Amino acid sequence: MKILVAEDESTPALFLRRTLERLGHDVVVALDGMKAWELLQQGELRLVITDWMMPGLDGLELCRKIRGQGDSAYTYIILLTAREGLQDRLAGLNAGADDFLSKPTDPAELAARVAIAGRIVAMQEELERKNLQLAELATTDGLTGLKNRRCFNENLITACSFAVRYGYPLSLVMIDVDHFKSLNDSFGHPAGDSVLATLAGILRSETRDHDIVARYGGEEFAILLPATAAAEASLLAERLRSLTTSYPWPQRPITVSVGVATTGGDLATWSELLEAADRALYHSKRSGRDRITHHDSFTQDVVSHSTCDSLKA
Ligand code: C2E
Ligand code: C2E
Ligand code: MG
Repeated sequence: MKILVAEDESTPALFLRRTLERLGHDVVVALDGMKAWELLQQGELRLVITDWMMPGLDGLELCRKIRGQGDSAYTYIILLTAREGLQDRLAGLNAGADDFLSKPTDPAELAARVAIAGRIVAMQEELERKNLQLAELATTDGLTGLKNRRCFNENLITACSFAVRYGYPLSLVMIDVDHFKSLNDSFGHPAGDSVLATLAGILRSETRDHDIVARYGGEEFAILLPATAAAEASLLAERLRSLTTSYPWPQRPITVSVGVATTGGDLATWSELLEAADRALYHSKRSGRDRITHHDSFTQDVVSHSTCDSLKA
């Protein structure tokens, strides 16, 4: 384990370094509290053994600064002290220390306490890894690896308020696979899933890194295009439609219907943008599928939601 020793006196510092290195640890020594704090900012050190009395930043202040960092990775702190009294120990615990070692330090006790710290740090790291995986799972669509609807909506809300405030255009592209139900019925669900995964791959690789691509529903995808005006968004949508149509699909040709909407005019909120893109998508469906429609460029049909759903199937 990589251990930071903060100790201003050279003899105990050397003793700690040698003993810990003999136990197989990687040791970094800081000769005062400020230096220790600087080294901790690099983020690799999860165990600190710190002296209490040091010039500048003392051990207690160092503990408080570490704990004051909020939600960054957990740092385990062992406080070295010649003080034995209850009040002193309480002060150490209240400052954020996890454990104590007395000075002068017994090598066997040092080994035992560091082993405990190692177990706690390992558990903590495992927990952080799991949390990261959970966060990833919570925002990702399992089949396609794209962002999921919830994550997309969060991005949409933020991007929309940003775009409106700073006057950037923001475009939203909604894409729905044509006759997807019949594909599933004719070739089975695994074939349907494979089409969705392949299409997701096309959408992700053929758009810019900062475009947000998501699986919005069963066979529906959504793409958010920051700083992209109506005409450019339509060009992109047409490029994606044409790439889909010309892809060598193994079962049968696959086409998509696409709806595009851009902020500006009467579209200022995320829900208006979403609704407008959805209406444009229905227009593409009603006009014969395998086409794109921009919300700005059609006279809107009055379509009931049940008609919409039947068209989307
Ligand atoms: P183009 O392909 O006809 O795209 C025209 C405009 O549509 C682009 O103007 C951009 O505003 C928008 N656009 C196209 N694709 C995307 C996309 O994936 N995401 C976003 N957010 N917007 C997109 P721009 O940037 O001035 O580019 C002009 C031309 O330069 C493009 O015409 C294309 O021919 C070329 N180009 C630009 N970037 C790339 C790239 O990364 N790869 C390739 N192959 N060509 C690029
Ligand atoms: P990127 O910006 O993340 O774009 C990823 C892919 O989206 C591009 O791969 C291209 O397939 C597609 N794409 C993005 N914008 C456009 C566009 O305006 N028109 C067309 N036709 N396709 C677009 P590609 O072409 O292999 O480019 C890989 C990366 O190289 C791009 O990643 C970008 O970082 C850079 N790049 C390529 N061409 C240009 C360019 O003209 N201008 C700028 N600023 N960067 C470019
Ligand atoms: Mg000291």
